[in-house]
Amino acid sequence: CGIVGYIGKRDVAPLLLEGLQRLEYRGYDSAGIVITSPKAAGLKMVKAKGRVRDLEARVPKRFAGTTGIAHTRWATHGAPSDENAHPHLDPENKVAIVHNGIIDNASELRAKLVADGVVFASETDTEVLTHLIARSQAETLEEKVRQALKVIEGTYGIAVMHADFNDRIVVARNGSPVVLGIGEKEMFVASDVAALVAHTRQIVTLDDGEMATLKADDFRTYTTEGSRTTATPTTVEWEA
Ligand code: GLU
Repeated sequence: CGIVGYIGKRDVAPLLLEGLQRLEYRGYDSAGIVITSPKAAGLKMVKAKGRVRDLEARVPKRFAGTTGIAHTRWATHGAPSDENAHPHLDPENKVAIVHNGIIDNASELRAKLVADGVVFASETDTEVLTHLIARSQAETLEEKVRQALKVIEGTYGIAVMHADFNDRIVVARNGSPVVLGIGEKEMFVASDVAALVAHTRQIVTLDDGEMATLKADDFRTYTTEGSRTTATPTTVEWEA
């Protein structure tokens, strides 16, 4: 239902939790967050059925990081629960994904993956994307995501992190809104500008079939086929 992400120098958890709160008006049944930092080995995740404050209550005192993605879920596949809340991680805790939308061929893809020995941790349609990305042999995160998106049918706004590519967040859009917020040596992503305007008014709205790579000091957009697209930030007007 709602996505917010950040890469930069600030303490990411409070910033993302505040962003999720700004998306609460859209309604949701669970929430979650995953973070990392350039120094940190691996990803740290917390999720909870219920409100953003239930998630906040579970976040440990020491939960430091400068890159992260967070989600509020409106369940379509699998009941509201801790396990079905996003983000979804692969069994090696390398890939983390948050997703808005519906993957139409999820049950078919899931059956194939299970036949290949994959063990699922949730009942969501989203988790198939996690495994597809984790199992891709491609060398870049962008290419792994692109290959995974090629085999799924349906709608998505996604944000992806990878422990081995922790200088970036990769996002993609098809039928569910994704906006980038361009800051000074920091970048934001969200499903709704409402989550961003406290931090930046410089916005890039992705089109369907478009992806983006966010790094702390740089962003680029391209099609799911891989060709570069031009993205000039526009300034949004917003009454605080
Ligand atoms: N289809 C996904 C799920 O059920 C995402 C739902 C959403 O957009 O929040 O987990």
